[in-house]
Amino acid sequence: MKITMVGTGSAFAKRFDNNNALIEVDEFRLLVDCGITLPRALHEMDIQFVDLDAVLISHIHGDHVGGLEELAFQMMFKFKRKPVLYLAQQLIKPLWENTLRGGLTQESLSRLEHFFIVKPLETGKQYELAPGLIVELIQTKHIIDKDSFSFLFNSRFFYSADMRFDGQLLQKLVDGGVETIYHDCQIETPAVVHAGLDELLTLPESIQKKLWLMHYGDGIDEYRGKTGSMRIVEQRKSYNV
Ligand SMILES: [Zn+2]
Ligand SMILES: [Zn+2]
Repeated sequence: MKITMVGTGSAFAKRFDNNNALIEVDEFRLLVDCGITLPRALHEMDIQFVDLDAVLISHIHGDHVGGLEELAFQMMFKFKRKPVLYLAQQLIKPLWENTLRGGLTQESLSRLEHFFIVKPLETGKQYELAPGLIVELIQTKHIIDKDSFSFLFNSRFFYSADMRFDGQLLQKLVDGGVETIYHDCQIETPAVVHAGLDELLTLPESIQKKLWLMHYGDGIDEYRGKTGSMRIVEQRKSYNV
């Protein structure tokens, strides 16, 4: 599978777009998270919403769901096709009630299902999104009392989305055969709701070698060469994982 980060920035980054990804397997295109900057960023990549086969959401923060209103409206009124939306069962209600309802509601359109083909996911189960693309949700800690999920693709590629440092989980994943980890990384200390670079640097070499940093702040260039054996994912560059 091929992954291209539409953006690699933290929630407050201005040099980078929101940390959202395009995963491609053969002809299938999955968008992972759809933040505030996503509509413009995708346009810059010459991709339209209708070119996406499905969207997968990790949690309810603007840099991960803030572009869904435009996606929903464009798909309904411009492209006249309902987009497929994969998300954890627990996120369906807050996504509609707390984020999308205000902007999307009109006349008889009053539910998430009116705009999306909603595909609820449960943690610990494997779902085949397309031939050659299997996803499993892992609930991880990000904000207290707020559900947030990381993704394990094809049992070998772990995508953290947003989570706090959890060395035990990373060790378990690597022991279980994970070959590549894309992890959010806060470069400024102290990291509270994300994994800090200082924390990630405590990981054993065997894990660092597999780990790529994303979701970073505008000051990332100062840290180049200071990330141990961990590499930095570059925005808009494609990688095979
Ligand atoms: Zn984020
Ligand atoms: Zn977040």
